[in-house]
Amino acid sequence: MKVLHTIADVRTALGAERAAGRTVGFVPTMGALHDGHKSLVEASVPENDVTIVSVFVNPLQFAPDEDLDAYPRTLDSDVALVEGAGAAYVFAPSVNEMYPEPIETTVTVAGVSEPLDGRSRPTHFAGVATVVTKLFSIIGPCRAYFGQKDFQQLAIIKKMALDLSLDVTVIGCPTHREPDGLAMSSRNIYLSDEERPQAARLNEALLLGIEAVDGGETNPAAVQAIMKAHLAKADLGTLDYAEVVDAKTLLTPDVLTGEVRMLVAVQFGKARLIDNMGTTIEG
Ligand code: AMP
Repeated sequence: MKVLHTIADVRTALGAERAAGRTVGFVPTMGALHDGHKSLVEASVPENDVTIVSVFVNPLQFAPDEDLDAYPRTLDSDVALVEGAGAAYVFAPSVNEMYPEPIETTVTVAGVSEPLDGRSRPTHFAGVATVVTKLFSIIGPCRAYFGQKDFQQLAIIKKMALDLSLDVTVIGCPTHREPDGLAMSSRNIYLSDEERPQAARLNEALLLGIEAVDGGETNPAAVQAIMKAHLAKADLGTLDYAEVVDAKTLLTPDVLTGEVRMLVAVQFGKARLIDNMGTTIEG
């Protein structure tokens, strides 16, 4: 297992792997790795000859009032975790390596970037799309593994790869959860002892939404109301959104049909938590 810090070293190492006929799996992360990230590495390892994990806290995707400085940085334990999961390389560049000059080129994906988190964090997804484009350019042709935990992000990356004919196969992987249902997140460490049990309300609200839709409810407002009523029980949190949308467009239809996705976002102190689940309405 090798830890690389420069773009040139990644290109040399992966160039040699490809010259030897080996395929590449890629898992982009911001570090502070947990079992959710590990599951992405474990999805890649059997499907590719070598797996590379990037660890980079990308300043472009944080607004000035967000937690860029506080975001946990734990490279040594991250390296141990991905090595244990079978990765061949970690790419851990400095900010200066990635952005030697102020960046003047931005990738934006219209449509799927606009609702949900796009409304609450208007500059976030352009920062994500730009760094992921740059990482894809550095890594080269690969299969790239993303979590469904960040469902809107996954939709944006898939659309971007399609629109720009990127030589990358984007693969979505299931969300890993704590025993009480809370989706694993590097930001969960911000939760206080009082907030932590309330954070389980996100997953419970989604399950209630799914139950309503599976039980025949096709009115989005009714499903939203069920989820919001449950999230209101988390009185230490502030609701950002609780929506049920078409899984492809991420827009709320008049009547729910086909593949639908429920998505919720709640702010607990410093921790902004998001989660989502989906179901399909047959017929
Ligand atoms: P992050 O380090 O938070 O930017 O996440 C890096 C990748 O890990 C993204 O593709 C996330 O969707 C994915 N991820 C984060 N949390 C989880 C989780 N609980 N289960 C599965 N994948 C996750």
